[in-house]
Amino acid sequence: MTDEHEALRRSLRRFVETEINPFADAWEEQGAFPAHELFRKAGKAGFLGISKPVEFGGLGLDYSYNAIAAEEWGRSHSGGVATALGVQTDMATPALARHGSDELRREFLAPAIAGEQVCCIGVSEEGAGSDVASLKTRAVRDGGDYVITGSKMWITNGAQADWMCMLANTSDGPPHRNKSLIVVPLKTKGVTVGRTLNKLGLRSSDTAQIFFDEVRVPVRHRIGEEGMGFIYQMEQFQEERMYAAAKAVAMLQACIDITVDYTRGRRAFGKPLLDNQTIQHKLAAMQAEVEALRAITWRAVDLHVAGENVTQLASIAKYLAGKLALEIPNACLQFWGGQGYMWEARISRIMRDIRLTAIGGGANEIMLQVIAKNMGLSGR
Ligand SMILES: Cc1cc2nc3c(=O)[nH]c(=O)nc-3n(C[C@H](O)[C@H](O)[C@H](O)COP(=O)(O)OP(=O)(O)OC[C@H]3O[C@@H](n4cnc5c(N)ncnc54)[C@H](O)[C@@H]3O)c2cc1C
Repeated sequence: MTDEHEALRRSLRRFVETEINPFADAWEEQGAFPAHELFRKAGKAGFLGISKPVEFGGLGLDYSYNAIAAEEWGRSHSGGVATALGVQTDMATPALARHGSDELRREFLAPAIAGEQVCCIGVSEEGAGSDVASLKTRAVRDGGDYVITGSKMWITNGAQADWMCMLANTSDGPPHRNKSLIVVPLKTKGVTVGRTLNKLGLRSSDTAQIFFDEVRVPVRHRIGEEGMGFIYQMEQFQEERMYAAAKAVAMLQACIDITVDYTRGRRAFGKPLLDNQTIQHKLAAMQAEVEALRAITWRAVDLHVAGENVTQLASIAKYLAGKLALEIPNACLQFWGGQGYMWEARISRIMRDIRLTAIGGGANEIMLQVIAKNMGLSGR
């Protein structure tokens, strides 16, 4: 870490402490946070375009600075806001920044970096989550437009977003070659944002199903080449997976830290809970696992910054993050006893929020499939 990394970390931390944490409980309660208002502030501070090109308003820094942001958003008291910010910076915009035309980047990337527009990523469908290639939404060419019909499911920021980076079938060819990424403004005729979905965790982030009925979008809204959408999305998933892993490092570390504090203060049988060696050893073992995850995540980030393909390492980091997300918050909550079972306890919120890490953006089993393929163990 350079002084510049640490300076960025300090300003992100200040932002979290003043602009997110004081409101986190109310946003959880309301089931949404004011995305436009918060993103405008984050954009003004430069946090929504840390590794995006300077000509579109980004800071032009390398991805390691972005990973610092993922860690700091993960330290916030709202997993929902941290996820929504990650969608804006690491899920809906990397392909646009990398492959979009200048015109498209001026129209959609620049306002997303400035926080003037909120965006979302539309890959999953009701019948196609893990099996991305089998998605059904179609974008059929008609003159200078694509006409889009279909629906997208579980879309983070879906109820508030101005536009979606959508993966859709643009031809009948083989499933890995027939898809394109298209920027779809969500105020367009034929778009219906369905009900906001009621979730186990990430309750401050809105998640919606969105329907598209013959929605017309100019062909120039396509990101990069036609038929390359699946490949671009697989590239874009690398940032999503590193973001998820770095955010998980911070959330898991928070689980350990707050459990140390709690068990130090809570007494049973005449002494602090933390004086029991079984609890100390369990926390020490968890710390070792979080350090391993941190090291793998930062190795993936470093190699990504060096321009290497990090499919394998980013998938390993995401897999390990998902695995520890199932284990560590649950094990920590145990030491909070009845207090940990309370809805408002921070440990129970982290447990609910981080649970998605093992499912979203490629479930643990899908990560293992990718890792096995990269090891040459399977063709699929
Ligand atoms: C809160 C939330 C927010 C989300 N945000 C977005 C978003 O913004 N944009 C978006 O596009 N998507 C989003 N998603 C969707 C998410 O990425 C998918 O839920 C995820 O990819 C899993 O797909 P699925 O739910 O269809 O599960 P399925 O594909 O039905 O799989 C169910 C389970 O089966 C197992 N499984 C699947 N395939 C295999 C296999 N080959 N071998 C062994 N086991 C397997 C896994 O355990 C998996 O969890 C979000 C989901 C949630 C819950």
